[in-house]
Amino acid sequence: MTIANTGIDPSYGEGALIVCDNVVRTYQSEQIEVQALQGLDLLVYPGETIAIVGASGSGKSTLLNILSGLDVPTAGQARVGEWDLLRMSAADRLVYRRDVVGFIWQQTARNLFPYLSAAENVALPMSFAGVAAGERQRRTAELLDVLGMGEKANRRPGQLSGGEQQRVAIAVALANHPQVLFADEPTGELDVATGEEVLAALRSANTHLETAVVIVTHDRAVSDQVQRTVAIRDGRTASEVVRHTHVDEQGVSAVIAREYAVLDRAGRLQLPAGYRQSLGLRGRVRLELEEDHVGVWPTERKEGGA
Ligand code: ADP
Ligand code: MG
Repeated sequence: MTIANTGIDPSYGEGALIVCDNVVRTYQSEQIEVQALQGLDLLVYPGETIAIVGASGSGKSTLLNILSGLDVPTAGQARVGEWDLLRMSAADRLVYRRDVVGFIWQQTARNLFPYLSAAENVALPMSFAGVAAGERQRRTAELLDVLGMGEKANRRPGQLSGGEQQRVAIAVALANHPQVLFADEPTGELDVATGEEVLAALRSANTHLETAVVIVTHDRAVSDQVQRTVAIRDGRTASEVVRHTHVDEQGVSAVIAREYAVLDRAGRLQLPAGYRQSLGLRGRVRLELEEDHVGVWPTERKEGGA
């Protein structure tokens, strides 16, 4: 195991599985520097399912690549469980990617070996981890069953639909009991019905196996169904929507979604564009601390001759 001293303020993200604190990732290309992540904060708790949404180019894939151990932040702090993502050795990184996290890519073809059966694909990461043959077989059968693919265990990817391939990919990703699954646009190449099938498979991974799930998606059908949706804008966490089920006196249940702005660790807050426009908030604004809230006012314009 790695990392006793992560350098992270221990009170931030206590009990969280994923802690991103002011994560920066810049890419140097030719003469220009691209800031893909500009001080991103994110907490994900064990067993949670969250969606990450944001315009193309906002930094979603960069974040997922960092969290899955493929890429390293330029600055900031990032950890998953006990693993410090800025300070892992190459050997740690291999173990981390094999045992701690699982990932599912958008391109169904990238997730599976075409010449191996579904069952052989699922067993492969366990072979790499040195799992004994008997246990490998048991776990493969269990996972393919949970994902509804038990009857097609001997088919190769080419003999499966896109949705079935993604379900097998989820089984592969779960093989070594990861603490979290990352999926980058897992339904992006699929039609609506198939996308729902894949989302249902991710949810059953979450409920049956208690694996946390982080899904990057453009798909409202996906983001509307998870407990929490984090919106990224310009490489920062901009807002969060939290959903819970409310049951009224008649026993009728409804999902209540509430949008929150995110105050970053430096105290910065992004006001939604609609709020800024309707009150003409720009440049200097007046802040007032009230007993239980903070008020924000546009600065008074000088009215002539008052
Ligand atoms: P998203 O997944 O939200 O569409 P990305 O994380 O892929 O966004 O990209 C964020 C920004 O970083 C974009 O401006 C993108 O062009 C840039 N970027 C991503 N990867 C690289 C790279 N390897 N080299 C240079 N720029 C990159
Ligand atoms: Mg992307």
